[in-house]
Amino acid sequence: MKGDRKRVLVTGGAGFLGSHLCERLVREGHDVLCVDNFYTGTRANIAQLLDAPNFEILRHDVTFPLYVEVDEIYNLACPASPIHYQHDPVQTTKTSVHGAINMLGLAKRLRVPILQASTSEVYGDPAVHPQTEDYWGHVNPIGPRSCYDEGKRCAETLFADYRRQHGLTVKIARIFNTYGPRMHPNDGRVVSNFIVQALAGRPLTLYGSGAQTRAFCYVDDLIDGLVRLMRSSGDDGEPVNLGNPCETSMRDIAAQVLAVTGSSSTIEHRGLPVDDPLQRCPDIERARRLLGWEPAIALDEGLRRTVAYFRVRCAGSIDAGVPA
Ligand code: NAD
Ligand code: UDP
Ligand code: UDP
Repeated sequence: MKGDRKRVLVTGGAGFLGSHLCERLVREGHDVLCVDNFYTGTRANIAQLLDAPNFEILRHDVTFPLYVEVDEIYNLACPASPIHYQHDPVQTTKTSVHGAINMLGLAKRLRVPILQASTSEVYGDPAVHPQTEDYWGHVNPIGPRSCYDEGKRCAETLFADYRRQHGLTVKIARIFNTYGPRMHPNDGRVVSNFIVQALAGRPLTLYGSGAQTRAFCYVDDLIDGLVRLMRSSGDDGEPVNLGNPCETSMRDIAAQVLAVTGSSSTIEHRGLPVDDPLQRCPDIERARRLLGWEPAIALDEGLRRTVAYFRVRCAGSIDAGVPA
């Protein structure tokens, strides 16, 4: 690679999104340092990278200080699925807030750009639809989702203040629901749940009426958005929505998963979780304008690729992988 080879830190690099990001950066010839405490990430996610001379892994918890030398930082460390982030909610808030402070302190010492993996959850159960970046959100500060939502909101505050107070170059990506290979089969997210259930011939667990909506982005599109954001020259530090603005109800997702898998599973209705947002869809005009980015992979194609992954992953051990 030419002179633009960088040393890149990816926190949460052994997770679902982080592993795809590491893969992309290694493929481009950068020196990638993956930092992870393996809370939800796994070595298997990065197994294909372990032999690469430009890939290194460090087991570390970002709630503790980290002294390394790098040229840019992607801060992805944080459990992302409701089951995982609600398992130890205090640790979730610590990871978001203390983790952000430490990674911002690192960026400040090194004077390097830092990107935060924020989330559409900062909009809570939104009263504005679709969500634009200037909407401040509708978030319960004391509910079961708050450790994640408020932790991520506080992290955004820290990123904005390190920019204003210390002149740091910060990038905030508000990521909407993303799916694809290497989602954890047991993390309770809707796409992985439905696919694993369909492949096992078990009922698909549809929460509530199934009329609630989300917008699902295929992982390759999302990673491209993150990389473009990091490399974008406009440095106003404003958050940027990254997601596929193709809004779908959970009922429709269930039907599509059944169609793609060819499964004859039935639908089993369960109660809607507390504070489950009723609708979610990004307005991505800012990403289009600033990054020239928009998703290219339609839900149908993305589901096919994800199903192909789970067919292999679950082969032989399908029961072990099925969420309750
Ligand atoms: P994931 O759970 O697969 O990955 C998170 C990674 O962070 C894991 O490897 C985990 O072990 C690691 N981690 C957790 N706590 C840590 C700590 N204290 N120190 C070091 N490492 C730690 O989740 P994901 O889907 O890959 O999400 C990655 C990031 O993107 C998260 O910050 C998440 O909030 C954000 N995000 C994801 C989505 C999505 O749909 N996948 C949507 C919005 C935002
Ligand atoms: N920090 C870190 N690595 C570094 C520099 C700082 O982990 O290379 C941590 C450090 O532990 C500190 C935090 O980042 O608690 C915030 O650093 P900052 O310089 O902003 O604040 P201060 O050290 O003044 O509290
Ligand atoms: N959901 C569902 N069945 C499942 C898992 C989730 O109907 O087995 C619903 C959930 O209630 C929510 C939507 O699917 O309305 C998306 O859930 P997920 O946890 O994937 O993402 P998030 O709620 O964090 O956007």
